[in-house]
Amino acid sequence: MTSNAELHDAAQQLMPGGVNSPVRAFGSVGGTPVQMVSGRGPYLTDAEGNQYVDLVGSWGPALLGHRHPAVIDAVHSAVDAGLGFGTSHPSEARLAELVRGRVPGAEMIRMVSTGTEATMTAVRLARGATGKNIVVKFAGCYHGHSDGLLAAAGSGVATLGLPGSAGVTQAQASETIVIEYNDRAALEQVFAEHGENIAAVITEATPANMGVVPPEEGFNALIREITTRHGALMIFDEVMTGFRITDAGYWGASGREEGWEPDLFTFGKVIGGGMPTAALAGRREVMEHLAPTGPVYHAGTLSGNPVAMAAGVATLENATAEVYSHIDEKAQVVADALASALNEAGVDHTIQKVGSLFSVAFGTGPQGTGTGVHNYAQAGAQETFRFGPFFHSMLEQGVYLPPSVFEAWFLSGAHDDDAVGTILDALPAAARAAAQA
Ligand code: PMP
Repeated sequence: MTSNAELHDAAQQLMPGGVNSPVRAFGSVGGTPVQMVSGRGPYLTDAEGNQYVDLVGSWGPALLGHRHPAVIDAVHSAVDAGLGFGTSHPSEARLAELVRGRVPGAEMIRMVSTGTEATMTAVRLARGATGKNIVVKFAGCYHGHSDGLLAAAGSGVATLGLPGSAGVTQAQASETIVIEYNDRAALEQVFAEHGENIAAVITEATPANMGVVPPEEGFNALIREITTRHGALMIFDEVMTGFRITDAGYWGASGREEGWEPDLFTFGKVIGGGMPTAALAGRREVMEHLAPTGPVYHAGTLSGNPVAMAAGVATLENATAEVYSHIDEKAQVVADALASALNEAGVDHTIQKVGSLFSVAFGTGPQGTGTGVHNYAQAGAQETFRFGPFFHSMLEQGVYLPPSVFEAWFLSGAHDDDAVGTILDALPAAARAAAQA
């Protein structure tokens, strides 16, 4: 049997860092990345045959757990019919219909292959539809790796401590204005200064790439109000939250009080059920600016791929209210146990939580009673050094966490009492390891 370490060494000769996406490299937690070879329900198995309870969920898509029978059957049937035709086919409209049925305001949908492509296209569409150039984003929000959206981005950019990315030109960066999250005054000011030139504000519905950072009450509504007032579009990035967080009273998203809709949404992860699919969606009048009905170009050889559509349709059809309440309940149990274990070990922290998505921030207030993290500056100021020992203790005890303090923990409909029990049993020792860091 080849070990994880041997596989990683070999991979490093072939791929930068041995990975195809940076956070997988364990850069901030140290140690050897684990090579997973299979998954079932809430579990993953690595190349050495070790089993882990999975709290990464493929970084979000595995809402139903790994290898859900309905999803696997749907994918097998799709594969048997052919891997793709480069034409329209019926399951694209079926997935679009499911999205529209669940997300008020998602009147029309364009399927793409990744969340990055969804946000990149949404930004181009906003510029094309408004005739304006500037995009406003919030520090710590991650919207994929397209050039203009990498400034002060969360996720791997935060994990690696980068200000942005080399290779992004000054011209591209200058058309993105970055302000602090939850900062109403900064938002007002940016519009006072640049309102005429702002095409869009892009925001995560609930930021979850600098750890989870709940929008303060009314913050998303303020973005809606101010963009409307200035003729800019609001792009609600739901790549992470879409079809996972349910606190807006519908099965799409989060952070949205009643009575308004963004102009554009972006979806990814759950919508593809583990296959490479994402989407942008929104008001018909805006979406029809996309080619072929309008002048804003977007295309994709693999857009709406039938195997990916089959996985997405089966996932959304099986993502019932019961599944969401199960995930919400288990997330609460794990979050509560995490807080207790850290309190017991004397580790100053905050559980950052919205719906079933949560993360832990260390050193942010007295033992779970602190005011927590509200923006990227606060996220960066936490005691990140406590996470590595915490992560490795969990890993040794058979729990696979996202290998960065800035990433959310993902539960699934398959996390049963046994799997949750393994997590709860592992937390006290991990909390002690964090305390000793
Ligand atoms: N937007 C958000 C909110 C995300 O969390 C991510 C990925 N984590 C993306 C966009 C980019 O998606 P992808 O990795 O599929 O390109």
